[in-house]
Amino acid sequence: MLGVLTGRRRRRDDLFDRSFRECHDCGADVYVLAEDCKDCGAPVVQLVG
Ligand SMILES: [Zn+2]
Repeated sequence: MLGVLTGRRRRRDDLFDRSFRECHDCGADVYVLAEDCKDCGAPVVQLVG
């Protein structure tokens, strides 16, 4: 949803895109294996499945 605000689509390859997810708090890219956002420290909920 934040992609709409920035007006920029993600143009990364699938592998990279799967390795990161967007922080619901600040929109930063957070590594999927990380437990919290490196930018704002918000806990990142895994949305697997
Ligand atoms: Zn964040």
